[in-house]
Amino acid sequence: MSIDRAKLHSAYRYILDWFFPNRCPGCRKFIAWNEDFCPECAGRLTVWDGKTEIPFVDRFTAYCVYDKKISPVILRLKRTDRGNSCYAFARGIKMALERSGMTEGIDCIVPIPMSKKKLKERGYNQAELIARELSYMIGAPCSDVLVKVRDTAAQKSLGREDRAKNLKNAFSAAPGCNDVKGRSFLLIDDVCTTGSTFAEAASVLAENGAARIYAASFAKTPNKRSKASPNDIPEEEYEDNVEDMTPFI
Ligand SMILES: [Zn+2]
Repeated sequence: MSIDRAKLHSAYRYILDWFFPNRCPGCRKFIAWNEDFCPECAGRLTVWDGKTEIPFVDRFTAYCVYDKKISPVILRLKRTDRGNSCYAFARGIKMALERSGMTEGIDCIVPIPMSKKKLKERGYNQAELIARELSYMIGAPCSDVLVKVRDTAAQKSLGREDRAKNLKNAFSAAPGCNDVKGRSFLLIDDVCTTGSTFAEAASVLAENGAARIYAASFAKTPNKRSKASPNDIPEEEYEDNVEDMTPFI
């Protein structure tokens, strides 16, 4: 069943490419229908191989390091010409899940929700678009079991403790949603910085009886390093939501 869905989606993308040729989400160059980035942009990615503990999350993984080299690609997600970004990001997350042995036993993929107000302004939730692409790739259904019940201030410029406070009770189980208990979930977001957003969302799933909670993002800030890189994004600019990110290039 899941294989058929994946094949059907690939066929759809193949045909779509005749009319809307696939472009690299980084530089807009034309690329093959089943490619994610052009070789130059792919070369700007640094594979994330860190280890991060996030409260209420059993395991976390990410595809690449969130740094100044990749930030322009991520920022394109919020633009009207975001094109192939969601597909490319979902492919990255799938590879990260495979690398970490986290593809099995996922009952449901859950995108980090956006508030109704923000959704109205943007017209789409990028985490949901990525989660839906990933759903075709790994064969697990995608569901909005969480909702964001209040707007939160941008995380930027808040310390770690204040970030957690800012998000406290921001998420809730979707009304009428009774299928969390005993199931395994994979939370999805475009970027993870301190992990506060995943922790708050995962706490709601845990309160509602989730059996296992995984989380994955396309990009993650590096773990503390002994020597800072010039490509590092300053901690005061850390932001999980692409909307509030600072363009560095
Ligand atoms: Zn490119």
